[in-house]
Amino acid sequence: MMAKEDFYKILEVSRDASDREIKKAYRRLAMKHHPDRNTDNADAEEKFKVIQEAYAVLSDEQKRAGYDQFGHAGVDQSMGGGQRSGDPFGDMFGDIFGRSGGGHRSQATRGADLGYNLNLSLEDAVSGMETKVKVPTSVSCDGCKGSGSKSGKSGVCSSCGGHGQVRMQQGLFSVQQTCPACRGSGSIIKDPCGKCRGTGKTKDQKTLSVKIPPGVDTGDRIRLGGEGEAGALGGPSGDLYVQVNVLEHAIFSRDGSNLHCDMPISFVTATLGGELAVPTLSGKVKLKVPIGTQTGKQFRLRGKGVKQVRGGPVGDLMCRVNVETPVNLTAEQKNLVTQLETSFKTGGTRHSPREHSWVGGVKSFFDKMKS
Ligand SMILES: [Zn+2]
Ligand SMILES: [Zn+2]
Repeated sequence: MMAKEDFYKILEVSRDASDREIKKAYRRLAMKHHPDRNTDNADAEEKFKVIQEAYAVLSDEQKRAGYDQFGHAGVDQSMGGGQRSGDPFGDMFGDIFGRSGGGHRSQATRGADLGYNLNLSLEDAVSGMETKVKVPTSVSCDGCKGSGSKSGKSGVCSSCGGHGQVRMQQGLFSVQQTCPACRGSGSIIKDPCGKCRGTGKTKDQKTLSVKIPPGVDTGDRIRLGGEGEAGALGGPSGDLYVQVNVLEHAIFSRDGSNLHCDMPISFVTATLGGELAVPTLSGKVKLKVPIGTQTGKQFRLRGKGVKQVRGGPVGDLMCRVNVETPVNLTAEQKNLVTQLETSFKTGGTRHSPREHSWVGGVKSFFDKMKS
């Protein structure tokens, strides 16, 4: 193996060159020595590689520091002998040369990711389920068997002479590009199929089975690898993301692993205590309401919440009671309530736990206003 030339020399910059200067020098040299512009010069490709290697080191702050300190030994282990996986120049040359930096004649692109909004009931989201979703897809046209041509015949593309690639002038450079007339196929359809307008593909729907894991919540995404849009020219398909949206529930609202609900109770049950049948996602459970329960009191039913999809303990059901004021009383019932009120007033015992302190608060409030 030949001793390596100095990276700064290769890029024709000084050792204290700025990132900008390095980038500028690289662009100039890379264009000058790009193999596409030097098809009759066998050394160009080698030279181009060396320039790329030098730039890969000097454009990377950490690698440049290693190189400055230790020379080639400071970067060689991370360079893998100059052959790198992945092409850091793809971005830069993608726009200049109209192709990805990886392979030469390939225009293969990955298909787009697709999103699908899935509405779920709270019950289904909590317990998990399997469902079917219909997503758009393109299938081979049955009118032309996918050829795109009515007669099944196609002719050689006159724009590129069947090569699928054309040279275009772009600024100073002649650039190799996929032929826009035949999109790289090299052939042109003379009598396009009416059903697919010559594309050979028609839109259809495919039905996919989606497994919803237990505990998902609004905002969770389920990825179905490879079920997105098909890639172009043999590129991989995109992914399908099923976006979960949990619908509002008539009784429960969810907050992470906990569920909340409001329970109306009669003022008699609230007063005398009793037992309530509280709905949970797994059926009714009994809740003991103590004597003298006030409205707004919250009861915690342990383990009656949700197990979240990312794990953790099962949450609780928080049940808040609302004492209901009786309505539509008969004359007799009104009379009884009045009697009850009279009894409260003459009984000598406090029956309204909050009223006393509230009245006291109001009194001191007005006293302060007066002073
Ligand atoms: Zn063509
Ligand atoms: Zn067709």
